[in-house]
Amino acid sequence: MNEIHKLYRQLQQQLPGLELRLDEPMSRHTTFRVGGPAALMACPLQTEELVEAVKLARAWEVPTVVVGNGSNLLVDDKGVDAFVIKTVPQFGACDVQGEEMTAQAGILLSQLAIRAAEAGLTGLEFAHGIPGSLGGGVTMNAGAYGGEMVQVVRQVGVLCPDGTVETWEGERCEFRYRHSAFSAGTHLVLWAKVGLKPGNQEEIREKMRDLAARRREKQPLDFPSAGSTFKRPEGHFAAALIDQCGLKGLRVGGAMVSEKHAGFVVNVGGATCSDVLHLMDEIRQRVFQATGVELEPEVRYLK
Ligand SMILES: Cc1cc2nc3c(=O)[nH]c(=O)nc-3n(C[C@H](O)[C@H](O)[C@H](O)COP(=O)(O)OP(=O)(O)OC[C@H]3O[C@@H](n4cnc5c(N)ncnc54)[C@H](O)[C@@H]3O)c2cc1C
Repeated sequence: MNEIHKLYRQLQQQLPGLELRLDEPMSRHTTFRVGGPAALMACPLQTEELVEAVKLARAWEVPTVVVGNGSNLLVDDKGVDAFVIKTVPQFGACDVQGEEMTAQAGILLSQLAIRAAEAGLTGLEFAHGIPGSLGGGVTMNAGAYGGEMVQVVRQVGVLCPDGTVETWEGERCEFRYRHSAFSAGTHLVLWAKVGLKPGNQEEIREKMRDLAARRREKQPLDFPSAGSTFKRPEGHFAAALIDQCGLKGLRVGGAMVSEKHAGFVVNVGGATCSDVLHLMDEIRQRVFQATGVELEPEVRYLK
């Protein structure tokens, strides 16, 4: 029996309520619909379960990775030889206190934005159309249409590598463009508190409708993808560079540069991770040759 199976047995015994899956296809948990199996997956519903599961995995020296909604993930075709903890939307209790909202990591950003609108709080409209979880959004410092998580995150509940749980102020989270102190995967986001401002409910809803319409118009939402494939290079836009190089429609297997938005690689049917990686390599090479700009992936590659 290997360490993963030993961990599985111990988790079954010590955390009987915890949902566990062996060899769970990650294609079911990524918006790209790509990826081989996770050796072991758990979907905790309580903070204590998540913390305990991570501690046990560390005791068995089993590598552990926390994922949210899988909307920025590219998982290898061979899968992930690790313990994958998925923060599901049910791990997403949310509490509104005055102008602040505190929620567990699994809540979807869309839901959090809707809760803010219901409470008459403005500041999260930008996040309504980002198809990630709060934990993933904080980790990626997700942003759109002038908004970014750094602008609203006040505190984060952090699971540290030694198993302790700390509360970090926003300033400690090292937020930069699509980066945070959590990007390295050593410190995990358990919950976050966002600070918003009182606003007019109808205006908040109208802004969310407007941004949704802009997304539908510009983005290839009919195809599986992981959003923008590359980060915005300093002084440029990745999509404009890719378009300028005539790469819209460029295809490797089932992976294609979207005809609608060159910044997206889409799965047009049966794409493998290898297809996506080859296409991304091709895009980077051609853009570099033509423009001298190096594109850096925004999607996180997991293997
Ligand atoms: C159609 C589409 C549109 C998109 N539009 C935008 C956009 O406008 N702006 C934008 O910024 N992004 C966008 N994205 C990308 C993606 O939605 C964001 O990056 C989102 O924040 C990822 O959240 P997630 O829960 O899906 O994270 P995942 O994809 O599951 O994970 C992303 C990374 O965060 C880590 N992680 C996840 N949860 C935790 C946690 N609790 N603690 C520690 N680490 C964690 C993972 O290990 C991984 O490294 C888009 C994606 C799609 C498919």
